[in-house]
Amino acid sequence: MPIYKAPVEDVNFLLNDVFQIDRYDNLPGFSDASADLREAVLSEAAKLSEEVLQPLNRVGDIEGCIRHDDGSVTTPKGFKQAFKQVAEGGWLGLSAPTEYGGQGLPVTLSHAVTEFQCSANMAFAMYGGLTMGATAALIVHGKPDQKKMFVPKMVAGEWTGTMNLTEPQCGTDLGLLRTKAVKQGDGSYKITGTKIFISSGEHDLSDNIIHLVLARIEGAPAGIKGVSLFVVPKILVNPDGSLGARNGVSCGSIEHKMGIHGNSTCTMNYDGATGWLI
Ligand SMILES: Cc1cc2nc3c(=O)[nH]c(=O)nc-3n(C[C@H](O)[C@H](O)[C@H](O)COP(=O)(O)OP(=O)(O)OC[C@H]3O[C@@H](n4cnc5c(N)ncnc54)[C@H](O)[C@@H]3O)c2cc1C
Repeated sequence: MPIYKAPVEDVNFLLNDVFQIDRYDNLPGFSDASADLREAVLSEAAKLSEEVLQPLNRVGDIEGCIRHDDGSVTTPKGFKQAFKQVAEGGWLGLSAPTEYGGQGLPVTLSHAVTEFQCSANMAFAMYGGLTMGATAALIVHGKPDQKKMFVPKMVAGEWTGTMNLTEPQCGTDLGLLRTKAVKQGDGSYKITGTKIFISSGEHDLSDNIIHLVLARIEGAPAGIKGVSLFVVPKILVNPDGSLGARNGVSCGSIEHKMGIHGNSTCTMNYDGATGWLI
């Protein structure tokens, strides 16, 4: 049976002796990341990756994800429980700002944790990875109400995130994208188009999925200059933060890949879905 042993000693050596990370304690978060705390975080991360995530790697590869007729997607056995454990352990918010419920520790440390998780089970780690990426984009570029509405739930792992760039006619050259955004009277946009290869686009690990979607606003110039980014929740969020109606976005199919079967790589159909410009 394959095993995974996280390289805790090597990472400690890199952080302590090569990077001499304590020299950077004038940077935000670094002074909280003492040698003892780093050691504790890495040891716990190693345990999680070795004992929980790695044993699910083969299960994920054999079972894969299953799309049902209603467009919902079931992840492999054990993924849901493990994701709950990752979320409740605060692993998705290790480097997120404390004002959103994160622990505010350096990304240098959380990257080592991500490395353990990816090595143990890439397909599983991608659900959290995409969430952390979307969270970071919202923190840096989101409007204040968008940050308030989405970021704390994503940091807590109650909601997950995606990035929707690729379309059937464009991957590398995103200037060719056709997904359309039409402005509505209330300031929101109606998003229509098809995205392909969307990692973690649909699944059963979280209560909501927050899609970050590239689209072209009606009348915007052709090419890359006319591309804008929108936040489009799978389930619309009420002003009080509770979940409301289902939005016009659904998973049309999932890719059958050579590997990482445990991650749902989805075709996402946007049929006049409500989104907001980031
Ligand atoms: C497992 C998996 C997960 C993915 N997850 C996501 C996701 O979550 N969200 C998302 O939006 N997309 C996702 N993608 C899509 C991925 O981003 C695209 O596959 C990628 O952008 C490349 O696009 P393409 O496949 O259309 O290849 P192409 O753009 O057709 O490129 C094919 C080849 O041509 C080269 N090429 C293209 N244009 C030029 C040029 N002008 N000059 C020189 N060389 C060029 C490229 O370098 C490449 O080698 C995923 C893909 C995979 C396989």
